[in-house]
Amino acid sequence: MSWQSTFTFISLYFPNYLGDRELRYLSVADVYEKIENTTKRLEMTDYLVELFKKTPKDLIDKVVYLTQGKLYPDFMGIEIGMAEKLAIKAVARAAGRNAREIEADLRRTGDLGETAQKFLEKKLQLTFFRQPLTVERVYQTLDKIARASGSGSIDQKVALLSGILSDAEPKEAKYIIRTVTGKLRLGVADMTVLDALAIAYGGGKDARPILERAYNVSSDLGLVARIVAEKGLDALKDFRVSVGKPVRPMLAERLSSPQEILEKLGGRCIAEYKYDGERIQAHKNGDEVLLFSRRLENITSQFPDAVELIREHIKPRSAIIEAECVSVDLDTGELRPFQELMHRRRKYDIREAIEEYPVSLFVFDVLYVDGRDLTLEPYPIRHKVLEEIIDVTDRVQIAKYLITDDPEEMEKFFEEAIENGCEGLVCKSLNEDSIYQAGSRGWLWIKYKRDYKSEMTDAVDLTVVGAFHGRGKRAGTYGALLLAAYNPDEDIFETVCKCGSGFTDEDLKRIPEIMEPHKIPHRHARVKSKMEADVWFEPVVVLEVIGAEITLSPIHTCGMDKIRKGSGLAIRFPRFTGRYRLDKSAEDSTTVKEIIEMYRSQLKKVEG
Ligand code: ATP
Repeated sequence: MSWQSTFTFISLYFPNYLGDRELRYLSVADVYEKIENTTKRLEMTDYLVELFKKTPKDLIDKVVYLTQGKLYPDFMGIEIGMAEKLAIKAVARAAGRNAREIEADLRRTGDLGETAQKFLEKKLQLTFFRQPLTVERVYQTLDKIARASGSGSIDQKVALLSGILSDAEPKEAKYIIRTVTGKLRLGVADMTVLDALAIAYGGGKDARPILERAYNVSSDLGLVARIVAEKGLDALKDFRVSVGKPVRPMLAERLSSPQEILEKLGGRCIAEYKYDGERIQAHKNGDEVLLFSRRLENITSQFPDAVELIREHIKPRSAIIEAECVSVDLDTGELRPFQELMHRRRKYDIREAIEEYPVSLFVFDVLYVDGRDLTLEPYPIRHKVLEEIIDVTDRVQIAKYLITDDPEEMEKFFEEAIENGCEGLVCKSLNEDSIYQAGSRGWLWIKYKRDYKSEMTDAVDLTVVGAFHGRGKRAGTYGALLLAAYNPDEDIFETVCKCGSGFTDEDLKRIPEIMEPHKIPHRHARVKSKMEADVWFEPVVVLEVIGAEITLSPIHTCGMDKIRKGSGLAIRFPRFTGRYRLDKSAEDSTTVKEIIEMYRSQLKKVEG
């Protein structure tokens, strides 16, 4: 007799006996029902403990995933997600009814699980021979459903589902249906599972931190459950990060002034640009690279160019690094607004998006290098490793940083970051205890962002006073122009932005031609600039420009000291509108006073 027929034979005569290595799905469904009916978290934990204790150890990972309505940890990206229409067909087939009857009842209940339970109860009286469902069988069937693809997969899914429903108790059917349609919703949080595992296998709740750390560095509750159940708590104590399993991200607290930040971080810290892109955690193993998002979804296919950059510029054979992936203008090196990354979300034109919206990586942490887990090392050590492992290029850089104990210096750095297209700063502890706190928001990282954000609604007319050589597609022409507003009181031009966006190919040909007669060998005496341009012009040509907003700037001279000592004003994300104001003289440009007014009225709007 094969083991299957032995099993069928035993279960016919001893319906509750399944052997040591099996667990009836009914036991799981019973616990789900209890969890669903309780309003107390502690009771929920108790029910889970009860379930985990009776689960054979080699099944515990599956039970954990199923309890959260999944088959695998999220980062694997395998979802059951069966369309309700198909599930209805399967219920109809298993219950010996037609789909219209099921649909009619579903309209009343609003829950296909409940409908399935009801119809299978009616059928129950007529059924003599059923094979009790095991967790293993349910799991394997759901897995096949999740993986079925291509032609014939619809029929296959319906057949698979109706197959287990035919053997299911009505209550089991309810939970199976809710699971396949993504509506299990028991609300069992990760932390509740960890608590229950600590009680069931770790000797009590005190074991939770050990389990939690293992989870934070692997993002895989099933794996943690399996290890603690099979090998005990000690096996989790030296749990390491590993390539391929995303580490839950460390997050920052927030404060609103450099003084407070420095105080909190012990008087000195490393302030880094807070780039405004998408956080990625890159796992490199030889030529293989995986990218995970902040929410730990696998986003490798959205960024083939980032994959290539990591393959080429992260030197060790295997490594886990974290970086902000930012849309950039490769010809000028300017950062582009965060919204431009949205083009990566649409799958069908990724190739096009790579061309039109290329990205650069600003690396800000390293968690693992060639067998060495760095998450418990202090940040100065991780930062040093970071500097060693990156082959820096225009497109892969270490996040720009400043080590400081001076609030004023930090404020300047902050303004510079904003003006350069960043959101602000992330200030990080340099102390002994500055480990990578996986999965938690703590005071080792403190972000400093503005509490206002406003839009620049009007375009301005600015004078071209200098230019920067272009690279890439813009080699041989200008990559960006240095633009200035007019200060009639002193009869000078004060710089307000470096503009490299909005130019068509035709503009890029035409502008050098227009500017050629105005080229001079050094900065014009009427131009006040802290920036060193590659080429200088006499102030003659006026262009129309619009930006995202006006911000404080330590680099630009427009309105210097008028709003804040040591700071001027700058236009953030400036873009040429296409209008050459050849009808205007340089002295007709927007004035410094007007820019100051625009800045002030922006603030009023936000405050109001
Ligand atoms: P936010 O919406 O402000 O980005 P968040 O909850 O996503 O908040 P926080 O930890 O509060 O994340 O802020 C840090 C975030 O800033 C990171 O998640 C990362 O995406 C981004 N970031 C950009 N540059 C850096 C940097 N140099 N160091 C750390 N994080 C950075």
